[in-house]
Amino acid sequence: MIELLKGDITTLEVDAIVNAANTSLLGGGGVDGAIHKAAGPELLMECRQFKGCPTGMAKITQGYRLPAKFVIHTVGPVWRDGKSQEPELLESCYKASLQLALDFKFQSIAFPSISTGAYGFPKEIAAEIAISAVKAHLDKYANPSQVFFVAFDDDNYKLYKQKLHI
Ligand code: ADP
Repeated sequence: MIELLKGDITTLEVDAIVNAANTSLLGGGGVDGAIHKAAGPELLMECRQFKGCPTGMAKITQGYRLPAKFVIHTVGPVWRDGKSQEPELLESCYKASLQLALDFKFQSIAFPSISTGAYGFPKEIAAEIAISAVKAHLDKYANPSQVFFVAFDDDNYKLYKQKLHI
């Protein structure tokens, strides 16, 4: 089951929220900053142990002061020219995050629109990749059973609404 929400991902009471992190995993702006702020300093302490994360991969931590139990940190690609593996790397972020949710037998997971802020990925292509990666996973596996797309801005909300036919 896929649902679309508008607003702040840090408020959601789900098994895992996904963070659009950077390769250092040491925090940043946008959704990353909001997640670290809401989770508290213990999140950064746990993130340090990974010594970073390559683009397209994902790592999991506890949620600390967040209502979400866990945070899945994934590193989206920076948009360059569209010919530098950006679509494949973005798809890989969704797949890797969903694989962790499957491994941990999570029921619910919430995604922000990875790479569509500071990283400049075109929102429409990003929404198509996100939706198709999630649908492909849900067709094959029982976990997670509930996937939330969280749109922070109006553009993303409208795009997801249109592409999800809701
Ligand atoms: P990236 O560097 O991957 O582009 P950003 O955090 O800059 O990451 O942006 C990713 C998306 O997250 C953008 O669509 C942005 O509007 C959205 N966003 C920013 N803050 C939040 C939040 N608190 N909850 C959900 N989405 C958010």
